[in-house]
Amino acid sequence: MNAGARRKLDFLIVGQGLAGSLLAWRLIHRGQRVTVLDDGHRTASSKVAAGLINPLAGMRFNRSPFVHRWLEELERCYGELEEAAGRPFLHPQAMVRLFRSPGQARFYERRAAVAEDGDLLGKRFAPEAAGEPVHAPHGGFLQRRTGHLDLPALLQFMTRWLESRGALRRQPFDHARLEITAQAVRHGELEATHLVFCEGFRGKDNPWFAKLPFAPDKGEFLILEGLAPERLPRRIVNGAHWLLRHADGRYRLGATHDHHRLDPLPTPEGREALEAGLKRLVRHPEALRLVDQQAGVRPSTADRKPLLGTHPRLPRLHFFNGFGAHGSLTIPWYAERMADWLLHGRPLPEEARLQRFAN
Ligand SMILES: Cc1cc2nc3c(=O)[nH]c(=O)nc-3n(C[C@H](O)[C@H](O)[C@H](O)COP(=O)(O)OP(=O)(O)OC[C@H]3O[C@@H](n4cnc5c(N)ncnc54)[C@H](O)[C@@H]3O)c2cc1C
Repeated sequence: MNAGARRKLDFLIVGQGLAGSLLAWRLIHRGQRVTVLDDGHRTASSKVAAGLINPLAGMRFNRSPFVHRWLEELERCYGELEEAAGRPFLHPQAMVRLFRSPGQARFYERRAAVAEDGDLLGKRFAPEAAGEPVHAPHGGFLQRRTGHLDLPALLQFMTRWLESRGALRRQPFDHARLEITAQAVRHGELEATHLVFCEGFRGKDNPWFAKLPFAPDKGEFLILEGLAPERLPRRIVNGAHWLLRHADGRYRLGATHDHHRLDPLPTPEGREALEAGLKRLVRHPEALRLVDQQAGVRPSTADRKPLLGTHPRLPRLHFFNGFGAHGSLTIPWYAERMADWLLHGRPLPEEARLQRFAN
């Protein structure tokens, strides 16, 4: 094909996980000509993620200063997608948070003293008084503004939506085939003014962004059928492991962490660890039957913050990645910020900029 016959795009996006999908959604709604390349979700963590939305992460119930903006934007963004699809993707559900030691309660008390976090926290409960059939030897508290995103359904919708606009190609992107000129980037017959990489954990091997401190984190989880739902928790329960009743009616039990074995294959050790965790979590593990075990690799980073920005010397190449274990919560807000940066040069949030690793 000669250069004149090439289809000129504003943006070529590599990867149609949640990050590439939501960035494409934003850019197309702002009038941009976009094509997304994806290799059939070969390594998509978005395809397997449980989609848990938990604004208070970790043992200390820390939160980002941006958490209220994330929550506001996710409701707006998933609301727009739900309206376009005519079906729900976001499923709000309260979360029962279980203390893992007696000392952990002090982190709850510290958070409860912050007036602006009042919407995130419910009441603390005493040991074994969770109001759910779970083991709660140290008590816990109720968390609000939590839930889960039906990621497989959302990805499927986005695939169809992009295809219906001729904006999705199911093919691998080959870094060695990329031509970069002063005016454009070219990959085969595709020519674009800009290229954005949204490759998930495989971003660690991107030759133009090679030095970024990725810390990919393999995770495994179980899919379970509820044989006696009346003996199982109605709300999300979250202690050393979490259990969630998914929109598809089945339960998800997660998750493991492994920074060494970076493949999407379930393992017998992962299953054993999760089954042991289930017994410690719920009173009636026999009320659940194993249906499936899945695995994927989270695109996590060393400082647990996303990686957004433009190559320092190649201004046509951009990066939108590093959403770790919380993409469902954070990607909607960062996709909006990324679109503002790409289209209007509005500065990206400091904590997510690639430049923080410049030295
Ligand atoms: C087990 C597990 C549980 C999780 N649980 C949760 C959870 O409860 N809540 C939550 O918010 N997050 C969770 N996550 C994390 C969540 O999956 C991520 O934050 C988010 O989905 C990342 O999206 P992404 O688009 O950046 O990456 P991905 O979803 O990995 O998408 C990248 C895409 O790019 C494609 N690709 C890569 N390289 C190429 C190439 N060269 N050519 C073509 N295509 C390419 C891949 O095949 C893939 O489709 C979990 C992850 C795992 C693994």
